[in-house]
Amino acid sequence: MRTTTGWQADGPTARLRRTSLQRRDLRPDDLAIRVDYCGVCHTDLHAVRSHDGEGGRPLVPGHEFTGVVAETGPAVTRFSVGDPVAVGNIVDSCGECAMCRAGQENFCHAFPTLTYGGVDRHDGSTTLGGYSREYVVRDRFAHPLPAGLDPAAAAPLLCAGITVWEPLHTLGVGPHSRVAVAGLGGLGHLAVKIAVALGADTSVITRSPDKADDARRLGAHGLIVSTDPEQMADARDRFDVVIDTISAPHDLGPYLRLVAMDGTLSHLGHLGPVTVETIDLLVGRKRLSSAGSGGRPATTAMLDFCAEHGITADIELLPSARVNEALERLDRNDVRYRFVLDMSDLAA
Ligand SMILES: [Zn+2]
Ligand SMILES: [Zn+2]
Repeated sequence: MRTTTGWQADGPTARLRRTSLQRRDLRPDDLAIRVDYCGVCHTDLHAVRSHDGEGGRPLVPGHEFTGVVAETGPAVTRFSVGDPVAVGNIVDSCGECAMCRAGQENFCHAFPTLTYGGVDRHDGSTTLGGYSREYVVRDRFAHPLPAGLDPAAAAPLLCAGITVWEPLHTLGVGPHSRVAVAGLGGLGHLAVKIAVALGADTSVITRSPDKADDARRLGAHGLIVSTDPEQMADARDRFDVVIDTISAPHDLGPYLRLVAMDGTLSHLGHLGPVTVETIDLLVGRKRLSSAGSGGRPATTAMLDFCAEHGITADIELLPSARVNEALERLDRNDVRYRFVLDMSDLAA
């Protein structure tokens, strides 16, 4: 085994603590990655808060990171030591089911191996995430980081970025589309940047009018304040695609009413049951969909698109020793728009 350092949760109220971690010895198709930057995702916060330490399963969060290849297994041909790479929230899949064959490893019927809190397909161990100085990953699930992307600000592309890219891309958003993004957080601000770069007429839907300057700076053309009934009524049936990134449970009705005929509400920010009045779908033949993460081909396409258009996340970069502060502030939505941890304060 290889030894590295990382940040581990011991229970729901406990703070993450710095500790030494074991990584597997390299298999023939493995890479060892020196993790330089890891984004702090809402999922991490949820995982830490709901972790009870039961069964002694360790929790090391982190599933959007960038770094450089430190070592390669003997069968690795796509990467060399020193290559900049990025890893998202899945690190393996069955490779044989219809989803995997379609390049949607994120929907693998045998369930993809998650970057942390997953079960390794070979040795049954619990995967430990990117809040650490080293990660060992199967080469197929490492992505070359295109030149020109700042590695710290690019880290959030691997979870937040791909999560908004897949629906925008598969729904055919382009220069003739009208897109609205509800919620201006980690997911939402990247959805705005990508929709604008795709050429769409893009608006932000927000509860707080004070986000107007930010929305404009991100490239949005319009702003709708969701607490203003007049503005919501004016925007009825206006958008081909509404990307809903609001992380708290909420009524979908007001957002469906903004969708144009045959348009789609893509519900991304919140996982769990929702209530829908079918009349809100019926009137205008509207569609409700969801998505999360992405497959390998889409991740490559997203990274190439972001490199071409100079898109990265707006981040607050903190030394990894301030991870607990980052999680507490994320819990209060006190971040514009993503925390990224700098892992250089950890020993290899
Ligand atoms: Zn995430
Ligand atoms: Zn599969």
